[in-house]
Amino acid sequence: MNILLISFLFVLCIQNTAVAHAIIRVKNDYSVDELEQHALFYADKLGLDSSVNIIISLKSNVSKGIRGYTQYNNASDIGGGHQVLITINQDMKRSEQLHTLAHEMVHAKQFVEGKLVKENGSANYSWKGWYYKKIYKIAHHERPWEKEAHQLGGRLYMAFKQQFPLLAMPRGSDLSADSSYND
Ligand SMILES: [Zn+2]
Repeated sequence: MNILLISFLFVLCIQNTAVAHAIIRVKNDYSVDELEQHALFYADKLGLDSSVNIIISLKSNVSKGIRGYTQYNNASDIGGGHQVLITINQDMKRSEQLHTLAHEMVHAKQFVEGKLVKENGSANYSWKGWYYKKIYKIAHHERPWEKEAHQLGGRLYMAFKQQFPLLAMPRGSDLSADSSYND
């Protein structure tokens, strides 16, 4: 009887682990499911658990050359967990949006782990304990957290395409986004 009970608990634990990915909500989007599916896949691969709340927002008219950005707030002390807002440039092809999402999810992980810390109201960051002042003076591709996000984000995006080749195929939405794409 005891043995049965233990194995039952064990199964419960396994199931909990399997569903303990980040809580993800998508706003302002014409195909919520697709973005959410990608985000959940990336959250799972990155090991982001349910203490992480991610809102993904698609936005038009973001500054030229900006594909996306990630804002982070640690509300763990007041029971709010890790709060992440990912903004994706809506005026890009769908494939670029999804690739950018993978990149931004890596930044979410960097913030949640405390590897990347942004000083409030400034352009000063720290990365793995090293202080980086006025990061606009450092070329985007020279920033160590961007190097990691480019490499790992690219790998995550490729992994999704390999695992779900049909879901990752270009859609009609890609074509309609192209016509209004003015970069
Ligand atoms: Zn980045």
